[in-house]
Amino acid sequence: MKIAPSIGDLLADGCDSISQQGCCRNDAKEKCGLFGIFGHPGAVEKCYFGLHALQHRGQESAGIAISDGQTLFCRTGMGLVGDVFPSKVLRPLSGMGQTAIGHVRYSTSGSSRLENAQPILAEYSQGQIAVAHNGNLINALLLRDEYEGHGHIFQGTNDSEIIIHLLAKPTHIAKPDPMAHVLGHLQGAFSLLFLLPDRIVAARDAHGIRPLCIGQMAKGSYIVASETCALDINDAEFIREVAPGEIVTIDKNGLHSRFFDGPNTTVPAHCIFEQIYFADPSSTIFGQNVHQVRCEMGRQLAREAPVDADIVTPVPNCARCAAGGYAEQSGVSYARGFTVSHYAGRSFIEPEQPTRDLAVKMKLNVIKEVVRGKRLIVIEDSIVRGTTTRGKMGALKRAGAKEIHLRVASPPIRFPCFYGIDFPSREELIANKRTVEEIRDYLEIDSLQYLSLDGMLSCVKNPPDHYCSACFSGKYPIPVDEAVSKYAFERYQKRLFE
Ligand code: SF4
Repeated sequence: MKIAPSIGDLLADGCDSISQQGCCRNDAKEKCGLFGIFGHPGAVEKCYFGLHALQHRGQESAGIAISDGQTLFCRTGMGLVGDVFPSKVLRPLSGMGQTAIGHVRYSTSGSSRLENAQPILAEYSQGQIAVAHNGNLINALLLRDEYEGHGHIFQGTNDSEIIIHLLAKPTHIAKPDPMAHVLGHLQGAFSLLFLLPDRIVAARDAHGIRPLCIGQMAKGSYIVASETCALDINDAEFIREVAPGEIVTIDKNGLHSRFFDGPNTTVPAHCIFEQIYFADPSSTIFGQNVHQVRCEMGRQLAREAPVDADIVTPVPNCARCAAGGYAEQSGVSYARGFTVSHYAGRSFIEPEQPTRDLAVKMKLNVIKEVVRGKRLIVIEDSIVRGTTTRGKMGALKRAGAKEIHLRVASPPIRFPCFYGIDFPSREELIANKRTVEEIRDYLEIDSLQYLSLDGMLSCVKNPPDHYCSACFSGKYPIPVDEAVSKYAFERYQKRLFE
């Protein structure tokens, strides 16, 4: 089997130069966005727009794989969608096919390399295939070690490439349904898109941890995307979510569904953090609009943690919805205390801490005239390390805030995520070893309260046990071995690149 060179190799215009530095360290947990479109003459442009709408899910690399009905082509590069696909690149790709899948990627610092950009295009005994993955496979290292032991060669250090090797295994090809068989081997979180010359295949892990939805453009033309915001930008009509454990094939005969697990044999474990932070407020995921869920979390926070103050102000951008809910419930006026630059990246998904700090400084400015002399209720969506929150609180103080009462619209994050969101290690999570009072002290603010776990889960409509909230509770819906799952891949990467 060979991994095909991307169009990026053929049309290199410099957007992939970062990868040439060859730096690779730390873990490979990722949080990504998927977009696929079948049977549309403007497939490539639609894919470009869809990836733009999903840019918040990953800013390190982007890629589009295209089918002309017989052959697959792929272009990947480092950077934002607009960097990887400037008009001079997008234009020649536009006429290449009516079916495409695309990917935006976020990883931790270690794996921000072109080799890990997706879609991954490969050629094996059954022909060409491209894959795009959102989530994290917790058994990827074990599988990879096993396959390397049989002489398999891998191009990157991501957990997604193993899927193609599994598909290419002769004993798997001999199964009645090789795709279902292979998906049954995977453990962890995966929303997947596969592109083959004549079809797209979409699949979602049995717990439905990451979102994936289906929309329709016109008769015979379908979209599959991580979030509904990518349907909206293309004026597509939402049909339904891909169900947990489901495989949906889209070809010239329409949609075809089958299950590799279930249906309804596994209790869902939708990632609650998608609702808190990651998904776009305009999107509907897990059956609920994200903005409305965040507003309700703000209302619930006001019920649980009232305080006498002059104004409610959000830390932009994610806490805006929750702050609106808090203000509405509490009756305290809402005011904008920060301005935000739209030209700086999201700090949480910047891979390096110094870069992240700089990104915060470049991104946020306090409106002194609003906060000076005021007792503030500041709303945050979540606190991870606490370092950037401390910086924001300090900025409010320097601007003359009289009191700062921080209210967080989620519980304390005490445990790492193994299913595709890059929280740091336990030790780096500020709430892991500190009490709320100790965190308040560290942040140098007047009071601090978090939303309770039960309160958070009361804001979503599915049963509480249908969500993963392991980063708050430590109750992982799929058993993980931290020593192996979280850090072994890091050691593996060091072995490869040190
Ligand atoms: S551990 Fe947290 S971030 Fe990870 S899937 Fe569960 S809820 Fe989401």
